[in-house]
Amino acid sequence: MSNAIEVAAEAVSLAARVTRAVQQDLITAETLEKKDKSPVTVADYAAQAVVSSVLARAFPDVPLVGEEDAADLRDPANEALCAQVVAQVRKVLGDAVSVDDVLSWIDRGDHDGRSGASHWTLDPIDGTKGFLRGEQYAIALGRIDGGKVVLGALGCPNMTAADGSLGIVLTAERGKGVFQNGVLLPRQGAGRDFATASLCESVESGHSNHDHSALIKARLGVGGEPVRIDSQAKYAAVARGDAQIYLRLPTRPGYQEKIWDHAAGMICVEENGGTVTDVDGKPLDFGQGRTLAGNRGVIATSGVDHASVVAATRAVLANG
Ligand code: AMP
Ligand code: MG
Repeated sequence: MSNAIEVAAEAVSLAARVTRAVQQDLITAETLEKKDKSPVTVADYAAQAVVSSVLARAFPDVPLVGEEDAADLRDPANEALCAQVVAQVRKVLGDAVSVDDVLSWIDRGDHDGRSGASHWTLDPIDGTKGFLRGEQYAIALGRIDGGKVVLGALGCPNMTAADGSLGIVLTAERGKGVFQNGVLLPRQGAGRDFATASLCESVESGHSNHDHSALIKARLGVGGEPVRIDSQAKYAAVARGDAQIYLRLPTRPGYQEKIWDHAAGMICVEENGGTVTDVDGKPLDFGQGRTLAGNRGVIATSGVDHASVVAATRAVLANG
């Protein structure tokens, strides 16, 4: 496993080249006007193909739990879409790549994650709405061994790096800290006052309850407005100390969070001294297959007292 983190970082960086190219080539005033989602579909498939090909070469026996599969792309009705995906993959992996290569790389992501054995989990484009708006999105790759996240690579192509350039890749390995574009991030100090803390949450109120977060924020005395960002860029913000609290509050009973929406982000926050639990304060259990079936919602913090955030959340949720 020694070079797994380098392989993961390379895979995510290559995928970010694809998603950037798609954002530049295919998102136009016209697609925005028509609310045409096809650019994100192309980028999603192409990014999963690229990450999967890199993982297949380095770790042929380690399965992948990916958000996408190629069933729709194999439908002759989607031939034009398939051709666009293949063209984008060829831009980064070369012209020798065949249609079958691309489809089989995408389909490698169909593992159910249940065996308890090691596997990767990938969200090729987390935050599809942010991607379409030209705002935040992430390419999130995590590695799970024995139900625990052991490393993650989180690409956020629209977050600003320390030198002012656009695009970061956070990499974290259990016990080794978190790196931004290869540079170790300073660990966040503890004991910060809530009044100086900043809270982030989904842009989409359908993904996290905004009314409840406002009540929790008031209970804790968190200053400032909530920062709304799409994707696991929220975990990146907490890992870097841009924000101290990330709340993902259930919007309806029974929704199960997906492992690829949390694995990479969670380990980045934890490796910077932060804490990640569900809304009941329980650790996230990545040993249940494709979803976090044993948890509801997520609370990630860094620098502030996590137990106080859990207590305020429980109090608000108990009152409905
Ligand atoms: P975000 O960008 O934080 O709003 O999260 C995007 C992710 O939300 C997507 O990748 C979906 O997997 C996930 N999602 C979809 N529906 C829900 C829901 N009802 N509650 C929580 N997350 C959801
Ligand atoms: Mg996602």
